[in-house]
Amino acid sequence: MNYILLDLEWNQAYFEQAQAVQKRLNCRLRGEVIQIGAIKLSEKREICGSFSTIVRPRYFRRMHRHVAQLTGITQEMMDRGAPLSEAAERFRRWCGTNAVLLTWGPDDVPMFTDNLRAHGLPTDWLPPTYDLQIIYNRQTDGSSKQRSLEYAMQQFGIEQHLPAHDALNDAYFTACVAAKLDLARGIKEYDDRQGQYLDCTVFGDADVGERGFATSEAVLRDARVSDPVCPTCGKPLKKLDRLLHAKGQKYSLLCECPTHGQMMMTLRLVRNLDGSLRAKRMIVVADEATVAAYRSKLAAVAAARTTARRRHRSHRGKKKATAPAAVEQAQA
Ligand SMILES: [Zn+2]
Repeated sequence: MNYILLDLEWNQAYFEQAQAVQKRLNCRLRGEVIQIGAIKLSEKREICGSFSTIVRPRYFRRMHRHVAQLTGITQEMMDRGAPLSEAAERFRRWCGTNAVLLTWGPDDVPMFTDNLRAHGLPTDWLPPTYDLQIIYNRQTDGSSKQRSLEYAMQQFGIEQHLPAHDALNDAYFTACVAAKLDLARGIKEYDDRQGQYLDCTVFGDADVGERGFATSEAVLRDARVSDPVCPTCGKPLKKLDRLLHAKGQKYSLLCECPTHGQMMMTLRLVRNLDGSLRAKRMIVVADEATVAAYRSKLAAVAAARTTARRRHRSHRGKKKATAPAAVEQAQA
């Protein structure tokens, strides 16, 4: 099996333009891929291939000033790029059938699938995807912090001798970090402990110009939470249980796609700078351990609620003893 380290650069849309395009296409599209960079590692973690291509965007065709500064990709280079259909097909063939995708952080693959969908292209060929940042954390200090690639490179004494924010260079440095890790074990533990992640979306991000949510209830009413769709096929997900509310504005919900099986949707609410809320939604394959942990937490919440209600009831007069039963049913 080959390990493919993928890095993408995308052209950022100006806010109003993104809104107009998303409304027109009726799908999520916050940016358009303009460069695909990838390095292939063999089973022995030796470099055995590289892929780089500039992609011509269809919807956000004007190069964003910041993106140009960051990536060094000019309007002319972008205009001469390959259409996404052609670039994605070449990348698919280059990946081969026996590979997994690794990215630094959770953002690249969701951006890629959003792009493929907006162009009406298939996404089901994408190899299983893992966040190398998580594997790195587990095999170094066990932290849950989002470490930068530069941080990991420094730790392993990897010299930054090529410019950053070029998709191929970034994929190359990600591969250098990956070569220092036990990838086979990392992926196995990933499957065991967390499940393969399928989607990561942030919405209500007022810090980047989106409209934030006033309350957590408003987030939960949002269609992306109340009516989630399968990240792989886009069909509605069936909710299999109740929403679990954990400490620190975290939520999880067990869902199922008729074709792609059980998935766990987790939600984390974070404050924007203006005080409103944004949500980070992850959808992962729900393995047995994840489902068991979720069910036992749900049971614990239900038990705590019953105890609280009994206590509440015993403090009240006998007259109202029948009333709380109705409440319990309504909550069940
Ligand atoms: Zn599905």
